[in-house]
Formats: sequence, C-alpha cells, structure tokens
Amino acid sequence: MTDHASCSIALSAPKIAIIGGGLTGLLTATLLERASNQSSSSSNTPQITIFEKSRSVGRLATRYRSDSKTDKNWQWSFGAQFFTAKTAVFQQFIAPWLDTGLLQPWCAEVIELTPASDNGQPPNIQSKEQWDAVHARYISTPKMTSWGRELAAALKHTTIIFKTRVAPLTQYLQSQNQQRSQIQIFNQNSKQTELFDETGASLGWFDWVICTAPNGQAVELMANSKFSQQDKITKPQMQACYTLMLGWDDVQKLPETLNGQLTPQWDVAYLNSAILDRIFIEHQKPAHGELLPSITIHARNDWSEAHVDDDMESVEEQLLQAAKQALNWNEDSAPSQTDCHRWRYAATIVNKDAEELGILIDATKQWIVSGDWCAKGNIESCYRIAQQTVKAIMQTQ
Ligand SMILES: Cc1cc2nc3c(=O)[nH]c(=O)nc-3n(C[C@H](O)[C@H](O)[C@H](O)COP(=O)(O)OP(=O)(O)OC[C@H]3O[C@@H](n4cnc5c(N)ncnc54)[C@H](O)[C@@H]3O)c2cc1C
Repeated sequence: MTDHASCSIALSAPKIAIIGGGLTGLLTATLLERASNQSSSSSNTPQITIFEKSRSVGRLATRYRSDSKTDKNWQWSFGAQFFTAKTAVFQQFIAPWLDTGLLQPWCAEVIELTPASDNGQPPNIQSKEQWDAVHARYISTPKMTSWGRELAAALKHTTIIFKTRVAPLTQYLQSQNQQRSQIQIFNQNSKQTELFDETGASLGWFDWVICTAPNGQAVELMANSKFSQQDKITKPQMQACYTLMLGWDDVQKLPETLNGQLTPQWDVAYLNSAILDRIFIEHQKPAHGELLPSITIHARNDWSEAHVDDDMESVEEQLLQAAKQALNWNEDSAPSQTDCHRWRYAATIVNKDAEELGILIDATKQWIVSGDWCAKGNIESCYRIAQQTVKAIMQTQ
C-alpha cells in the first residue's frame, strides 16, 4: 500500500483498533458508531476492531454453578456488583435498557455488620440505609454480563475478536547474531500502526489504536513504544480485590444472619473487618429470585493488595474464616459451594482533591490510552472516558 493510498483510506473510513473488550472498549465502539451516524458523510463510517484476550467482556463478570438435583443455578456477579448514573447524559444513555428491564435499579437494604469477636460476641448488625431511586444503583439482569453482551450485539461496524492478546506495541526481531532490533510498527507517513498478536502474527494496520487495558497492563503494552505520555500511565494506583463466592442448597440452610429471622432482612452489608469489605446477597436482587442462595463477598482492596501474590488456597482459607465470623454459620448452616477469584487490577485509588487524569493521547501516532482508571475507576467512568476518546478522534476527521 502506498502512503498516498493509506492516507486516503484514513480520510474516508478510519480503521480503529480497540485493545480490550471491557465496558470502556464497548462503550467507545458504541459512541464512535453513533458519532459517525450523525456525521453527514457516510464514507466516514469507521471500521472498528476490538481485540479481547479473554473470551468475554471485561470486569463485568458472572459465574454460575448448576445444581444437578434442582436444575437451579447459583450465580455470583464476582466483578462489579452495580453501577451509578449520576450525570444526565449517562442517565439518558442507559434509559433504553431501563425501559426493557435489562437494567434495573437495586433498592437494596444496607446494613453495617461487625463480625463475631474471638471472645464469643455474636455479629452485630445495624441498619445503615436503603438505596433509593434518586441515587440509584443499577444492576444488569438476568446477569451482570447481559448488558455488555447487548452492547456488543448492537454494534454494526465493529468486529470483536475474542481470545486474542495484542502484543506490546514494540516488536523485536531476533536476528541471527542474537541482537534484537526493533521493527517499525508505526508508519510516519500514513500515520498507521500495525498490531501483532502474541505469536507475532499481524492483526492489520490501523489509523487509530485505543488501549483500554488496566494501567498495569497498559504500561507493558506501551513500553518502549515511544508513546508520548508513557510516564503518566502509572500515575493512578490500582489495587487488587479477592472475591469469595458462597452458595447454599436451600434458603432453609442459611445461617440466621442471612435468613432474616433474627435480624432485619438485608441485601448488602458493609463490614467492620480487617479483611472483608462488603457482602452482597445475589438471590435477593431484582429478577434474581430463581437462584439458589448465592452470596458474593469482596475483600478489602488494601488487604487484597497486600496478599496479591499469595497462594490462592491460603487466601481462600483466610477469606472463609473471616466470612464465617461475619455470617456466623455452624456445621449445619455452612455453605455447600465455595469459590474464590483474584482481580489483580480491581480498583483505582481515587484522590478526591487531585485532578482526574483523563485519556492519554499521542496525536502524532494517533494512539490513545484510556480505561476506567483514567477517571474514577467505575462503570460511569468508562462512559465518560469513551466520550473523551470519541471527541478526540472526531476532532481530527
Ligand atoms: C471486584 C470489583 C468490584 C467492582 N465494583 C464496582 C461497582 O460496584 N460499581 C462500579 O461502577 N464499578 C465497579 N467495579 C469497576 C468496574 O468493573 C470497572 O470500572 C469496569 O468494568 C472497567 O472496564 P474497563 O473496560 O475500563 O476495563 P476492563 O473491564 O478491565 O477491560 C479491559 C479489557 O482489556 C483486556 N486486555 C488487557 N490487555 C489486553 C491485550 N494485550 N490484548 C487484548 N485484550 C487485553 C482485558 O482482558 C479486559 O477485558 C468493580 C471492579 C471489580 C474488579
């Protein structure tokens, strides 16, 4: 392809690669498609490719297990539990899915729970608040992954390629005398970038490359690539989170802290614990009534970060011990299902006084590094970051 030819393609139908099929990637593709629909020139419709290393969408995650006797499921949203929509523009964006019921407000009863003490004091439960429709927390139904799937299915000019890990944007050739030399992946004249997968196979040339990976992964993807904003990628700190998933065969088997007999019925617990942060009752969420009793517990981010490289078995043991102290089960009311997941990059530490980083743009190469961590590290941030990305790209078209 001549430089001239690639330049005219860039002007007519920009080819855009998005690394990462999490919500930032999906929302960026959605808003790019919408923006190009609104532009007067139909020849401007971008060709978007999302490369996702796993087989489904990002940190919106749902795990199930089926019970062969009842044919019912345990189900755990082991990543994000809910999201907020504080701005009018995001509220407007999600309105169609609220109308269909795919997204629903979760008016959870929230308590503060102090686990049982070592000297035999039982757990203490205090009512805290009820989430209301004014400051709503939304969930996706029937699963937390459902919304991501709907967003993906609605994309018209976007190809999503799962199970493909994009290699760092610097490729090296191993020459015969074992010296490594850099392959040029960026063509200065056409402003196009060639991406590769981890086996070294070309994934094609693109006018724009948008990286939406968590910043710990983004820093590796962009290392030695001469990305002009490299030093800013590690500015926000991300912490880990361990998630414990518990299941019971029957509501009758739940411990008293969960079955509402001794305590007020509750859906979410904030914990006074050195290890655990929050407990979520999955089978009490809207449109989740068919589930077998399922509880998701997030460990504290500081505890998770301090134990991020520990052996999973020992982590699960410690989490189970802490959960037992919080929920006070005995031999008869112990969960029959247990599972644990490590999120290495779960939460962005938000400094309320510091200015938000925003997306990182290298205008010369037409590379953008984005992700929830460029803002407040939550789902609403993914939307805001996608808006910033689309604005930056549309301004150059
Ligand atoms: C335990 C937990 C609880 C949370 N709770 C909440 C909550 O209550 N409310 C809320 O709003 N938010 C919550 N969040 C945060 C929310 O999940 C995130 O803000 C959001 O999912 C981030 O989306 P993202 O697309 O920016 O990143 P990700 O979902 O991390 O997506 C990035 C994607 O890039 C892919 N990727 C990385 N490197 C490559 C590569 N080289 N090639 C191809 N693909 C690659 C990854 O596989 C990943 O799918 C929680 C997160 C966790 C983990």
